[in-house]
Amino acid sequence: MQICRHVGLRAIALAVVLASAVVHAIPEQRTVAGARTAPGDGAAVMPPTASDLKAVGSVDRWRRLIAGERGALPPYERLVVADRAGRILRRADGSGRGVGIPPDWMPLLCDRSAALILAHNHPEGQSLSIDDLSQFEKPGVAVTIAVGHDGSLYVAAAGRSYHAAEFAQVYAAASSEVTRMLRLHQSASAAAVTVHRNHLVALALARAGVIVYRADLGLERRQAYNSYGLQFDDIVHAAAAKVHDSSNGR
Ligand SMILES: [Zn+2]
Repeated sequence: MQICRHVGLRAIALAVVLASAVVHAIPEQRTVAGARTAPGDGAAVMPPTASDLKAVGSVDRWRRLIAGERGALPPYERLVVADRAGRILRRADGSGRGVGIPPDWMPLLCDRSAALILAHNHPEGQSLSIDDLSQFEKPGVAVTIAVGHDGSLYVAAAGRSYHAAEFAQVYAAASSEVTRMLRLHQSASAAAVTVHRNHLVALALARAGVIVYRADLGLERRQAYNSYGLQFDDIVHAAAAKVHDSSNGR
């Protein structure tokens, strides 16, 4: 998914103008059981907890919400915006390589009281990318979700140490350390790097408090991950330390 580059004063000003506008949900509304309702207008939105991420529901639920009436995930990426009750407010289709955010979604995504869930599918099954995790710069985005076609579910929210202005640099610090450590481990092939890289970076960011993260790996992916055992634990630990260094260095 691409970063929306339309965040700016113009979009935020538009959001203020449209703040009282009613958001029309498309007809096929669905309810996410167990999800909390959004806080009231003007209320400060607290960083979600691990149990909040659990409450968004299962991979099957999000596969259905993204797939819609046809029941199967498309071979390309599809992005939906849902509220905390699981009502689908927006839907857009992309390509096999990503899906952009339509500019006319920005007033909604910039609405600080919206507490939205951005969810999309990853045909290759990998975890959330830097672009996906950068969406928290938009005040209305509370949670991002990626559904892997291999049965994996990834859920993230901004943690107590998430700062939008620093995020790209923090992510780069974690990512470069993950790459360096993966190369040190001869058993981690190039294919393994591709498969696990986003997940390892996300785990490091979560350990450093930058994000709150939930990953329910599909069976094959979990078995592949577990085969690296303590090596991957070491990598996550080292990358989290680099995040701390990066944050403290400014
Ligand atoms: Zn993505």
